[in-house]
Amino acid sequence: MSFAATVLTLYPEMFPGPLGTSLAGRAMAQGIWSLDAVQMRDFATDRHRSVDDTPAGGGAGMVLRADVIARAVDAVARPGVPMLAMSPRGSPLTQERVRAIAAGPGVVILCGRFEGFDERLFEARDIEPVSIGDYILSGGEMGALVLLDACVRLLPGVMGAASSGVEESFESGLLEYPHYTRPVEWEGRTIPEVLRSGDHAAISAWRKARAEDDTRLRRPDLWERHVGARVKSPSGARQDRD
Ligand code: SAH
Repeated sequence: MSFAATVLTLYPEMFPGPLGTSLAGRAMAQGIWSLDAVQMRDFATDRHRSVDDTPAGGGAGMVLRADVIARAVDAVARPGVPMLAMSPRGSPLTQERVRAIAAGPGVVILCGRFEGFDERLFEARDIEPVSIGDYILSGGEMGALVLLDACVRLLPGVMGAASSGVEESFESGLLEYPHYTRPVEWEGRTIPEVLRSGDHAAISAWRKARAEDDTRLRRPDLWERHVGARVKSPSGARQDRD
């Protein structure tokens, strides 16, 4: 069964955008996934087709109206399909969440604009706010593209080598080890000897050590969580699906 994505947006022309090319574009052409970009403005009821109004309490910008957006949400909601809203106030998106979404039937993504959504929308509907990082975009569309790209590459039949999703950064709670390729010598720098040794156990040990060192140095937040998780589960094994 194909993974069906629906995006609610004021700019449907931004889709599929970059997701129409390369891996995701090919997968879409093959019917592995589909994308429906829905114009939220079509759910406005007034002559001006307005979707936004001034913020209660004053302040700059405009806010997306709960009544109009809820009508759009209700029109596209499907049982068992998670509904996400792009918001810098949401929980940060993780590889674990991406994997769970990709394992399901699809996703509905709401893209905010202006100052974002009327908060009552989140109280009245089952909508999960998600953030793609601690910075502010001008709209949720880029976030939706990011989320969909991350999901689509995990769908069965999309990635070339079956294993290439498993060793990646974050899959084990660590950053991935660094990569090298030919030429063996470039600007006086060589590829680490061990990677040319053919000794698979040694290569594996080197990669594990580098993944741990790099995570500790570059992402102390991830490292702390990783060490904490290992303490909790003595086997240290965290098996993901597939
Ligand atoms: N006033 C809001 C920002 C609004 S930005 C605030 O300070 O929290 C406009 C829209 O862009 C948001 O509604 C959201 O849909 C999207 N957006 C901006 N930054 C984002 C981020 N880091 N992650 C996900 N969506 C984001």
